[in-house]
Amino acid sequence: MTAHHRQPALYATDPELAALVSAEETLQAETLRLIPSENYVSAAVLEASGTVLQNKYSEGYPGRRYYEGQQNVDRVEALAVERAKGLFGVDHANVQPYSGSPANLAVYLAFAKPGDTVMGMALPMGGHLTHGWGVSATGSWFRGVQYGVSADTGLIDYDAVRALALAERPKIIFCGGTALPRTIDFEAFASIAEEAGSVLVADVAHIAGLIAGGAHPSPAGHVDVISTTTHKTLRGPRGAMLMCKEEHAKAIDKAVFPGLQGGPHNQTTAGIAVALHEAAQPSFVSYAHAVVANAKALAAALLERGFDLVSGGTDNHLILIDLTGKDVPGKVAAKALDRAGIVVNYNTVPFDPRKPFDPSGIRIGTPSLTSRGLTAAHMPVVADWISRAVDAAAKADEPALAGIRAEVSELMAAFPAPGLPL
Ligand SMILES: *Cc1c(COP(=O)(O)O)cnc(C)c1O
Repeated sequence: MTAHHRQPALYATDPELAALVSAEETLQAETLRLIPSENYVSAAVLEASGTVLQNKYSEGYPGRRYYEGQQNVDRVEALAVERAKGLFGVDHANVQPYSGSPANLAVYLAFAKPGDTVMGMALPMGGHLTHGWGVSATGSWFRGVQYGVSADTGLIDYDAVRALALAERPKIIFCGGTALPRTIDFEAFASIAEEAGSVLVADVAHIAGLIAGGAHPSPAGHVDVISTTTHKTLRGPRGAMLMCKEEHAKAIDKAVFPGLQGGPHNQTTAGIAVALHEAAQPSFVSYAHAVVANAKALAAALLERGFDLVSGGTDNHLILIDLTGKDVPGKVAAKALDRAGIVVNYNTVPFDPRKPFDPSGIRIGTPSLTSRGLTAAHMPVVADWISRAVDAAAKADEPALAGIRAEVSELMAAFPAPGLPL
């Protein structure tokens, strides 16, 4: 199917842009996408996200808007909120944050004043920029103190987290991150936050889909606020949600609007509602468990091929490969893998001797390939491709990379992705 048929109006109005969309469809279809924060949304989510709901302004919340004509939009947002509450077992949900970073900013606005001490995991240890890291507004407007993982195990040292929290008494503690291959102990964080008198936020942007599908413990009932994106393992449109106990509902809602944002993106809210509906189906439970099974199988296959993995493996959807022992730094490996049709990102590893823009690791994950239906039986093949591509990168062997690319696109053709043209 050509762009001409898929997006006829776009093709007629702006063939240049239509061609780019079409090229992106081909790229996403032919490559093995291993970036752990990415996925393929369903055709239903794509359709909901591209509707006339786009045309409507609706500052405020359902039943309390600053604009008229909300007969349908109120119901769309209420549906998304009810589904989020049901799926995650929380008292309150706000589905309006534009994305994960503004959602976290709203949390600061709700619970802290500029200059207050806040605590999160250090970015190079696997934390997120918005958890108080220096180059982020959150690290310049607040005083960020940061915990990490222990050098020998690659795991969070909860005693060290407790000691730091009690010494610093932060207003807010963030747990969760972007490069954490292991299960987060929300109960341990909850007891630390209680002792330190801190508001505890679980930022589950990466693992929300695993939590929804029962493949990772839930922070609900243990933390004050749950922050999540909707577009990673949860497989919805680009957006975010803040969920909390009833006692924090007012503070969170006020912080999102009018504190930080104007009108919500109603077309995105609709897409989120559809994704939450999909995530409540039994098939999504299977999906979430398959994501983890695939990641474990891939980690085992990589270890067999001599790769060094941060923390020695994975409990979730994500694997951090430490290339320090190989002849190839992360960026060179990532670019070679891209030429081989395998899309990853280069990433710092804990205690990385190299610079963040040229680090020692690559970060991979299984949400996208699982959405295409690949199983644990395919993971040795995937590990083999990665191993051969990293070796080829070391020898600058471009024909070898081209050969892998052909093998990748052949397998991908047999596993069509949701939402993409056949
Ligand atoms: C992805 C991510 C975010 C930010 O989400 P954006 O939508 O990219 O702004 C925040 N926190 C964590 C832990 C993330 O993984």
